[in-house]
Amino acid sequence: MAESRPRRGRLIVLAGPTAVGKGTVAAWIREHHPEIWMSVSATTRPPRPGEVDGHHYHFVTPEEFDRLVATDGLLEWATVHGVHRYGTPRAAVEERLAAGESVLLEIDLQGARQVRSRMPEAFLVFLKPPSWEELVRRLVGRGTETEAERERRLATAREELAAEDEFDATIVNTEVEDAGRELVDLFRSGPPAPTAG
Ligand code: 5GP
Repeated sequence: MAESRPRRGRLIVLAGPTAVGKGTVAAWIREHHPEIWMSVSATTRPPRPGEVDGHHYHFVTPEEFDRLVATDGLLEWATVHGVHRYGTPRAAVEERLAAGESVLLEIDLQGARQVRSRMPEAFLVFLKPPSWEELVRRLVGRGTETEAERERRLATAREELAAEDEFDATIVNTEVEDAGRELVDLFRSGPPAPTAG
């Protein structure tokens, strides 16, 4: 039988408002589904306590980030909450997809839109809070941001919630495990290719 190249892997983008729990759902998937490859983003944000370079993020200087942008090293990038830049290193994602692996990106809405236009075959999933009140509670509960930062993030979240219609599917994040399972099911069941327009 002729040797065939592996079928291109599926790319799923998980986006949604700030503090909805994207990171927690992504961490659940990382722990329970190592067969799904999670992209590690580059960011100019300094590490929070406990964050490990190369694992949670590639922490880079603004100059290094400029270089990545200039060399088309990022599949998408955005300034999130008007402060720091975040981007998805392109080569690693391309390699994994070409090898037939499932790839998950956990990024913000601006980035999701860029992936949509650069890789129309990507499947975009919107992670939604059970309610606005719950989203505010989660944002305040996290306690890692200053008051001004929290206000800025809430303003971003309000805009982001309105973008649900641009996505191929919505998952309500009531329980992390349920949301994670729903996401894994989308990889397995092979969602229909997004239609143009
Ligand atoms: P945090 O600073 O809390 O880790 O992340 C802030 C926001 O940046 C989150 O909404 C997260 O989804 C987003 N983000 C993380 N990595 C990327 C990336 O590579 N590209 C884009 N566009 N957003 C990202």
